[in-house]
Amino acid sequence: MDIQPSERLKQLPPYLFADLRRKAAEARARGVKVIRIDIGDPDRPTPDPVVAELLRAVNDPADPDRHRYGCDAPVEQFPQAVRDFYRRRYGVTLAANEVAVTGGSKDAIAQFPMAVLNPGDLAIAPSPGYPTYNIGHVFAGASTHYAPLREAGGFLVDFDAIPPEVCRQAKLLWLNYPNSPTTATADLDFFRSAVEFGRRHNVLICHDNAYGLNTYDGYVAPSILQVPGAAEVAVEFFSLSKAFNMTGWRAGAMVGNPSAVVGLRTVKENTDNGTLRGIQFAAAKALDSCEQIVPPINEVYRRRRDLVVDALNAHGWSLAKPKGTIYVWARVPGRYKGSSAAFATDLLEKTGVIVTPGLGYGQWGEGYFRISLTYGEDVLTEALGRIGEMRL
Ligand SMILES: *Cc1c(COP(=O)(O)O)cnc(C)c1O
Repeated sequence: MDIQPSERLKQLPPYLFADLRRKAAEARARGVKVIRIDIGDPDRPTPDPVVAELLRAVNDPADPDRHRYGCDAPVEQFPQAVRDFYRRRYGVTLAANEVAVTGGSKDAIAQFPMAVLNPGDLAIAPSPGYPTYNIGHVFAGASTHYAPLREAGGFLVDFDAIPPEVCRQAKLLWLNYPNSPTTATADLDFFRSAVEFGRRHNVLICHDNAYGLNTYDGYVAPSILQVPGAAEVAVEFFSLSKAFNMTGWRAGAMVGNPSAVVGLRTVKENTDNGTLRGIQFAAAKALDSCEQIVPPINEVYRRRRDLVVDALNAHGWSLAKPKGTIYVWARVPGRYKGSSAAFATDLLEKTGVIVTPGLGYGQWGEGYFRISLTYGEDVLTEALGRIGEMRL
């Protein structure tokens, strides 16, 4: 039997990186040493105290539930650690019904729209942006209006530029600051406007806070929940993945609006069985020790950021150093006439270096490329050296 993909699967955007992957294989076959600096997945190991807590918990004979479904035997320490963390970091008090634990934010971002969107509904996502916002809408049978993030506007969503009929119809709006891929950051005034927009138009504001702890030079990124009353119209997706080197573990939380929390919990109860207790104990340990664990991890990224930005600037760019995320976002050189795919392909073919073309994050990412700081300084130095040798 020939299984046909569903209409919803067919609606997913084409995988833009398939072509680059094929070209990388061709380059390797020609004997070129390919260097990837494109993937945003931390290279450094999870800190020892967190690993130790996992090992303790999975081996704890005093815990007869240690092997069981996480949903049937929840670990109270984890949501409590999330609440303590929000109080310490943001001065935000979360009630118990304002926290849903998740298996990382990608899962929750994809699942949550099923709790609140109906087929034919409309939701707003930034472009360029994390592809999973739109994918969640598509799986819920809804569609996406893209709000452009423009360099001239600091890559912030321009609420006044969203067409009135979109404001009327939309049920959700996604934000993500510190932002991937643009590395932009947002201040509390921006989040105030977001909350006001949500209130005025009856739109739930969904803030993806994946990089809230990956910040530099003393900068502290705000939480949208610091805006008074935000939980009436907003939720925030928090994840341990990027700040604690825990991408493979799958641990995070959605916090904020209590009815949205119930909605996500309901979808989760019906589609997954929760996270292993040992992982939840370890995630609680990580959050409780955040002030000790995170600064040395960020110091590694800060040095890599300086290395990459200084090298690009020496090669003719004029980039400011990003205050957050684990990326560098830059315009493609003039002679590629704004084509990020042409630049990424030429760079790969001539030097073996793989960066991410901005178009992969949506139409408004065109003209830019992203470098990830999740590679060692030796790798980044060699890659940036090759970029410099290429006559741009
Ligand atoms: C990495 C990332 C996530 C998801 O991380 P999880 O590992 O699923 O928690 C979410 N949003 C953005 C923008 C990301 O870059």
